[in-house]
Amino acid sequence: MANSKYAYVRSFELPDSIMPSTFMIVRLDGHAFHRFSADHGFEKPNDERALRLMDAAAKQVMKAYPEVAMAFGESDEYSFLLRKTCNLYNRRSSKIASTFASLFAATYTFSWAEFFPETPLQYPPSFDGRVVAYPSSKEIIDYFAWRQADTHINNLYNTTFWALVLQGNMSTSEAHNALKGTISSQKQEILFSRFQINYNTLPDRFRKGSVLYRQEEITGIGAQVIDDIVQADEIQKKQGTSRSRKVVVVEHCDIIGRSFWEDHASILGE
Ligand code: ATP
Ligand code: ATP
Ligand code: MG
Ligand code: MG
Ligand code: MG
Ligand code: MG
Repeated sequence: MANSKYAYVRSFELPDSIMPSTFMIVRLDGHAFHRFSADHGFEKPNDERALRLMDAAAKQVMKAYPEVAMAFGESDEYSFLLRKTCNLYNRRSSKIASTFASLFAATYTFSWAEFFPETPLQYPPSFDGRVVAYPSSKEIIDYFAWRQADTHINNLYNTTFWALVLQGNMSTSEAHNALKGTISSQKQEILFSRFQINYNTLPDRFRKGSVLYRQEEITGIGAQVIDDIVQADEIQKKQGTSRSRKVVVVEHCDIIGRSFWEDHASILGE
């Protein structure tokens, strides 16, 4: 049927390849998770079970796609970095975004009960996905700094907001008004003076999100192995005949400063 008289409709499918030799970042974000989190009783401001489930879904994506050098997750979103040399699906944007989003959503659903044993899943969650090309490592470092700065901003706001509501007995609109126009230091002051919460001692996971990357062996202090992964054939060939075992590690570390990138220089390599 390949050459049927109908096959011409295929020519309406326009190419959507990402420019060669550029970094690609795939960002996924949960659809309507404000509602999904409320419907499933997520703890506010941060439900750790939900964050761990996101990490598990991201780990599965890194297992399926050895081209992913690193990933960063916060809230209902995850970003995956693909190397400049990556030729996955001939760099077709919609193919990459849709396969990542569907594998992520499927794993999230598949693993739900492991993380929420007492909460039945009420309806299937979904995630949107996009692929963006970046020309150099400067934009990649800035991209991840942008997402982690977002984690800090949202977490400080949400922590203060829910302290006012849950401990300060404010209504949500009162809390909203109390925080309108406040800067970071004012929120930290509210947390400290009214609720004796030192923002800087809150868990790293909440303040910094999750950083996933591959490592030959576990050397990083604070790095926790979440899975053993034997690299796919393609990567093994590149690295010679010996089967190199790599693991995916998750850390809740700072990636805004330079030192993460200096300590893990291979992430931005070929
Ligand atoms: P959209 O479909 O446009 O992405 P959304 O409702 O998913 O809309 P987001 O801006 O993506 O909006 O925000 C996700 C929301 O999900 C957060 O504001 C928060 O309410 C909730 N959420 C996500 N993860 C958690 C978590 N681990 N703990 C508590 N709440 C969470
Ligand atoms: P790609 O990832 O490129 O789409 P693919 O292996 O999914 O590769 P397709 O061209 O999409 O290839 O073909 C799907 C294949 O799945 C079919 O060739 C067939 O072997 C199998 N398949 C799908 N649905 C059925 C079904 N209902 N019964 C039996 N086989 C099926
Ligand atoms: Mg959104
Ligand atoms: Mg969302
Ligand atoms: Mg989001
Ligand atoms: Mg198919």
